[in-house]
Amino acid sequence: MVIAKNIHKYYGDTEVLKGVNLTINKGEIVAIVGPSGAGKTTLLQILGTLDSPSKEEDFLLEVNGIRLQNLTNRMIAAFRNEHIGYIFQFHQLLPEFTALENICIPAFIGKKNRKETEQKAKELLRFLGLENRMKHKPNELSGGEQQRVAVARALINNPSIILADEPSGNLDSSSAESLHKLFFELRDTYNQTFVIVTHNQELADMADRKLTMRDGIII
Ligand code: ADP
Repeated sequence: MVIAKNIHKYYGDTEVLKGVNLTINKGEIVAIVGPSGAGKTTLLQILGTLDSPSKEEDFLLEVNGIRLQNLTNRMIAAFRNEHIGYIFQFHQLLPEFTALENICIPAFIGKKNRKETEQKAKELLRFLGLENRMKHKPNELSGGEQQRVAVARALINNPSIILADEPSGNLDSSSAESLHKLFFELRDTYNQTFVIVTHNQELADMADRKLTMRDGIII
């Protein structure tokens, strides 16, 4: 359901991605590992439409049968809202909003029904063991709780694919472990697809597939 063929990316004269090919199936958990500077984040951002491949080369980027290179910027923004969930190393929750509100924001942007969205957000909070934290603001939550709220926010629109960039990079080892377990529970419950850039060896070893990037290609 994600197909990337011959993805190149240049920043100025520097070729950061040198022809990446990748297919990811629904419900698969794929870890991308490799040294810093290998191009992992760049690839993840291109898969998630936050960045685009360099156009000098023929390429294919397809998610759920939709060819992203054929879409206008407006269509890409709508596509992203509907199909992609992101989890970052630093949770990027909005500090002035509660956990519940933070989770609902992507759905409100997508013009979803308020009541149904809040219902779904509460369900997710329950699933994540955070039902008692829904009115808390991010600074009233632990690092692990903040990251679980960020996971719920990534899930609120039922995205086809969740992209995570060092999701446990900022967590202590026990919070990291429970976050990793959560990814697998979500996959088992919702058949959710994950692509996770990580330096965490344990997570990479648990994944269905581990891809190693070096110097702009998958080796
Ligand atoms: P990784 O995630 O594997 O550490 P990145 O994808 O972040 O690697 O970066 C790959 C290379 O691209 C690095 O050399 C980085 O400095 C460079 N790079 C990333 N983003 C930009 C940018 N916006 N402008 C110029 N160079 C960039």
